[in-house]
Amino acid sequence: MPQIVIDRELCKGCERCVDACPQKILGMGKEINGKGYFFATVLEQKRCIGCRLCCITCPDVAIEMRVHGTMYHYFAY
Ligand code: SF4
Ligand code: SF4
Repeated sequence: MPQIVIDRELCKGCERCVDACPQKILGMGKEINGKGYFFATVLEQKRCIGCRLCCITCPDVAIEMRVHGTMYHYFAY
């Protein structure tokens, strides 16, 4: 089962990932990170289909996906 990992300190709260997720399982949290932004969180991990749209959409490369223990980084720079 895919596992989505969001780096709260890289997130700037733009909500693009929330809009992109076809399963609508991402949302914005109520806490703020060190930069003062509300950051995205996974609301219902078990319904993730591993489509990677959230990883690809995030402009700050804050989202990674783990599948069977392997971490996938997208567009790391
Ligand atoms: S991989 Fe796809 S289904 Fe899973 S959280 Fe990201 S956009 Fe949603
Ligand atoms: S797309 Fe990236 S920066 Fe924007 S809310 Fe989602 S995780 Fe945060």
